[in-house]
Amino acid sequence: MRLVKSRRDLDQALAHLDGPDGVGLVATMGFFHAGHVSLMKQAVADGKSVVSIFVNPRQFGPEEDFDRYPRDSARDLQIAEEAGIDLVYMPPEADVYPPDFATLVTVSELSDLYCGHYRPGHFQGVTTVVARLLGLIKPRRAYFGQKDYQQSAIIRRMVADLVLDVEVRVLPTVREESGLALSSRNVFLTEAQRQAAPALHQALVDTEREMLAGERDGARLLAALERRLKRIPGFKPQYWALADRRNLEPKGTAAIGDVLLVAGHFGETRLIDNCLLGESNQGARTLLELT
Ligand code: AMP
Repeated sequence: MRLVKSRRDLDQALAHLDGPDGVGLVATMGFFHAGHVSLMKQAVADGKSVVSIFVNPRQFGPEEDFDRYPRDSARDLQIAEEAGIDLVYMPPEADVYPPDFATLVTVSELSDLYCGHYRPGHFQGVTTVVARLLGLIKPRRAYFGQKDYQQSAIIRRMVADLVLDVEVRVLPTVREESGLALSSRNVFLTEAQRQAAPALHQALVDTEREMLAGERDGARLLAALERRLKRIPGFKPQYWALADRRNLEPKGTAAIGDVLLVAGHFGETRLIDNCLLGESNQGARTLLELT
């Protein structure tokens, strides 16, 4: 595995790496867990693989946790190497945002819904950095996690709208045995919060079960989801929604394949989760079919 920290070294390493199938990119903010590893393993299985590690300041709001976002690059490099990654790019901020950098990429509407409503500017930061990384690395494939469902939908929209020559692959959420979705921010949870947090996934699964048993009325399903979320000790739900899996428009009537989205806080720690109705139990699935 090669580690590069500058754009010049990146170009040189990519020139050596590039083969007939191009490279696959896993864009991350580091502090790896098994969710990142599952993306890396898929990238490795598909061909030459690049991981970027960059805690992107533009996707954090002024009151958010950029400064205390967890970082451990020595451990990350070891994990990437064990996953079989060919190249890690750890850019300095000036590589990603040179002083004359002036372009912001915004996927309108989709970026204002749900998480975007509570984190203004967040998705613009994400699409801007992802567009920049796609330009720097020019991958043929890019891997994202279902855990950040809205993010994956926005990136797919951006890639389609700008006719970017990259295949977006979305992989299912990796969870702890308890059901808690793995997240770099889980380290911030206290012991009591960690005990309570799996109930977030359970609330989604219980609501999915209700839907599969025949309840299709969106308002009733969301009211039941709300009750479940509000019962979780120490949890302050922010939003809960039923949406179309492609354009994320809210839905009044639930259908198989729609997505339930939730977000909220345990203290200062913000967690998100989601569930594709009828699919939460498909453990063998590797790539999400979203189109
Ligand atoms: P991050 O480092 O948090 O920016 O995440 C990098 C990538 O890993 C994003 O595409 C995330 O959606 C994905 N990811 C994060 N957590 C998980 C998880 N629990 N399961 C699958 N993918 C994940």
